[in-house]
Amino acid sequence: MSDSVLEAPTRPELANYVGGEWAPARNGRTYQKHNPANPSEVVGEFPSSGEEDVAASVEAAAKAFPGWSDTPAAGRAAVLMRAADAIEARVEEMAADMTREMGKPLREARMESARTAAIFRYFAGEAWRPKGELYEQAATGSALYTLRRPLGVVGLITPWNFPAAIPAWKMAPALVYGNSVVLKPAQEAPLTSLHLTAALDEAGLPAGVLNVVIGRGSEVGTPLVVHPKVRAISFTGSVTVGRQVRDEATALGKRVQLELGGQNPLIVTADADLGRAVEAAYAGAFWSAGQKCTATRRIYVEAPVYDEFRQRLLARIASGKVGDPTDPETEVGPLVNEQQLNDVLEAIDQGKREGGRVLTGGERVDEESYLVAPTLFEGVADDAMLSRAEVFGPVTSLYRFDTLDEAIERANAVEFGLSASIFTNSLEATQAFVKRLEAGLLHVNSQTAGADVHVPFGGIKGSGFGPHEQGRAALEFYTEVVTVYQDV
Ligand code: NAP
Ligand code: MG
Repeated sequence: MSDSVLEAPTRPELANYVGGEWAPARNGRTYQKHNPANPSEVVGEFPSSGEEDVAASVEAAAKAFPGWSDTPAAGRAAVLMRAADAIEARVEEMAADMTREMGKPLREARMESARTAAIFRYFAGEAWRPKGELYEQAATGSALYTLRRPLGVVGLITPWNFPAAIPAWKMAPALVYGNSVVLKPAQEAPLTSLHLTAALDEAGLPAGVLNVVIGRGSEVGTPLVVHPKVRAISFTGSVTVGRQVRDEATALGKRVQLELGGQNPLIVTADADLGRAVEAAYAGAFWSAGQKCTATRRIYVEAPVYDEFRQRLLARIASGKVGDPTDPETEVGPLVNEQQLNDVLEAIDQGKREGGRVLTGGERVDEESYLVAPTLFEGVADDAMLSRAEVFGPVTSLYRFDTLDEAIERANAVEFGLSASIFTNSLEATQAFVKRLEAGLLHVNSQTAGADVHVPFGGIKGSGFGPHEQGRAALEFYTEVVTVYQDV
């Protein structure tokens, strides 16, 4: 498969994209990206850019902004629609490259790649929706209205774990509302975002409207955040980096949006459909090797069904396919790199030291790839690290509860608030959950992960900052409101 991918005519250049041209880093530096399933394989050599590349990209974006923002929204939408077609034509290449560069199992990589086309189409549709509200002036009855205008140059900083969907759901609204963009994709997964870039290039996006600069967070991300011509920063990633980005950006008076980590609970009541709950727990905890901000980290099961749920989840784990991510049957593939592998193994050790029992997994699967077996803990204390921190791997813990009030209280006892699920057949339990669970994304009888394109996505508490993403919420971040008093 990789041979045909290498020969595919649509393969993007392994380069920055600045002012409509593919370009190496100005400092001439590169770095090699390795395949996490087979670390001796080099996926590609990418630019290791610096401040000069950011400066050139911001200048290109600033130059392109007047023309792009003056283009009727329907014209901008037409570019996004063509880009969606171009993405669809390359879904297989994009998915295969995603799997090679960051290890996401092919079946999920395909779904994510295909979803980016839907994201572009949805936001193309936004071009046709209202950008303001009409009132009458109090004294004269003349027109008084609000108008949402684009911001100018916006900076997008994205993580490696959804290397297609996250850049897409930031770029698409930024572009359709008339902004120009500088994207800094994650070093661990630049190639996937270059497929999106190539699709927009093929779709005829004018030069400079989108620019992509590949390199380290400290060398590309920071200069982008502090550049005086960048009006706003949309960041998805870790809490530590996100807070630093927020502080730097807000100190300079910029608009900033953060999507950060999660410590997402799943509650199973005694009357739930246990078969569905087990499937959701498995998928939520272990697909993408648990490397999702919305992955299920804690599973609270009501006492009367605890033992049965535990036994059925263990059986599901035993039958799940773990291994080669290019095999379309594989459900759990490797972690993204050696650092993540070591962090996850260390977290498992700490979980054990703090009194948790490993029911299954807990180890690296082989000496070659960065594969950790799906790991289920039991007996983890509520104040132990595994109950509180985000361990970004295939690790989840089971807890027993007696009353729903207790389950909700324990589910809420973390600094995060991204997503949460309940499996139940009780309307009363559903209502209590929807009213009191502290998370931005609530699932009743579905897994903690997953996001539709046309509704807001984002966390509360420590999981986010600023307006949510996607759906109509994106309008808030990528435009600013002016109020117009219009007399004749
Ligand atoms: P990360 O380490 O915070 O990196 C995110 C991005 O920030 C990368 O492009 C990174 O560059 C860049 N960066 C690093 N240091 C920077 C700095 N000083 N200034 C500006 N940018 C900088 O996160 P990650 O490890 O890629 O992703 C995993 C995390 O993302 C998890 O915590 C996960 O929960 C979170 N996440 C959240 C959501 C959500 O929507 N809530 C979705 C997905 C993931 P490099 O390429 O150099 O690392
Ligand atoms: Mg990181």
